[in-house]
Amino acid sequence: MSRTMTRREAIASIGALSAASVLGLGNAAEAKSSSKRPNIVFIMSDDHASHAIGCYGSTINTTPNIDRIAREGIRLENCFCTNALCAPSRAAILTGKYSHMNGLRTNDDTFDGSQQTIPKLLQKAGYQTGIVGKWHLKSDPTGFDYWNVLPGQGEYYDPVLIEMGQKKKKKKGYVTDLIADLSMDFIRNRDKEKPFYLMCHHKAPHRNWQPDAKHANLFEDMDIPEPQTFNDDYATRGTAAHTAEMRIDKDITPEDVKQPFPVGLSPEALKHWKYERYIKDYLRVIASVDDNVGRLLDFLATNGLAENTLVVYTSDQGFFLGDHGWFDKRFMYEESIRMPFLARLPGVIPEGTTNKSIVLNVDFGPTFLDLAKADIPADIQGRSALKVFRNKPPKNWRTAMYYHYYEFPAVHSVRRHYGIRTDRYKLIHYYHDMDEWELFDLEKDPDELHNLYNDLAQTETIAKLKKELERLRKELKAPVDKNA
Ligand code: CA
Repeated sequence: MSRTMTRREAIASIGALSAASVLGLGNAAEAKSSSKRPNIVFIMSDDHASHAIGCYGSTINTTPNIDRIAREGIRLENCFCTNALCAPSRAAILTGKYSHMNGLRTNDDTFDGSQQTIPKLLQKAGYQTGIVGKWHLKSDPTGFDYWNVLPGQGEYYDPVLIEMGQKKKKKKGYVTDLIADLSMDFIRNRDKEKPFYLMCHHKAPHRNWQPDAKHANLFEDMDIPEPQTFNDDYATRGTAAHTAEMRIDKDITPEDVKQPFPVGLSPEALKHWKYERYIKDYLRVIASVDDNVGRLLDFLATNGLAENTLVVYTSDQGFFLGDHGWFDKRFMYEESIRMPFLARLPGVIPEGTTNKSIVLNVDFGPTFLDLAKADIPADIQGRSALKVFRNKPPKNWRTAMYYHYYEFPAVHSVRRHYGIRTDRYKLIHYYHDMDEWELFDLEKDPDELHNLYNDLAQTETIAKLKKELERLRKELKAPVDKNA
């Protein structure tokens, strides 16, 4: 191509604009033409823990716009990722498969875009597909009629964007506003004869948490409370918790807090100081995400699309918000694997409901295919959660989930591990350069402070969990231990 296409040209080149839009017919005509299969707007932020969302009971911030989706739809209480890291979670969502099947285990891996993906299957089913914002999978996006993504992690201010493989362009503005703008442009310029699937992927609130001017002074005159496990000493846990390099006291840098550390403070006071600066910036960038979720919801309503569009809000994984003295994610602990997941689709998803079924990131894709009335290929490992969304989970819904984290040695130094989580228990095996296990009773110890693996009273429980873990590994075709 001899010149850079504009966004409008790119969209228009995909398919001729519909007669309705050419003739300028109104929203009613549009709504009617796409009434059979719903559009899907999948909003995903990066590292937004559910305990920093109002409707999940946050005690440290409010998110009135994100909460709207929950109020008008469903809030999943046990949605988990299968590998709590940015790129692997994205690959799992794109394929409906675990890391060992889609080939993307760590942030260093490159996504093989030639493989079957959910957007490709939705395209085949007649959807127009688009992705805007964070991509983070190294290879170019495939299966999208339109894409405009940040290279790598992307920048918060005046970010560079790559539109449809064209030359990188710097865009003036704040990344969260721009991604919402581009999402609305995609919807505006779409082929109105087709239902659409839009992945709106925010960079925020990823490290290093740079707020926009509008929210820069939020929380300035107050102290954000520390979480209960802020001073966890990892007393009953193994090597992995002790050696992880994601501690607020030791591993937060002056770049993270955008100023030199003060001198003369006690270690406790300095840790608190670092926490306050970290958590306030984290919450400030979330405030902008929340504003922009509101803008997108308003846009859908104004354009007659609210009724026939599934709107999802999620994040690629959770995050430690000072919990266990940490920031970052990776571990199979609750704060890290738990994904916020809110979904609204009037007439399908009952308003204001919550559901405790275990839903995984590999389920998102098959759920969307189900909604699009497309076949779900047999090799997809996730399962349609549409009945869970209807708040009527099937009787044979999963009662346990398999997790596997691979990125070690690497930044933050979290050891490789895999494990199983049921409603009540979590069993974790750290392997590779060690052989250590942890067992938690989530009912009695929701903060996961007491490793019960060496408690003789748990022998039977451990045996049962190991059996179920092996069953899951077999079912999911997980490679054996050391070669995992
Ligand atoms: Ca992430």
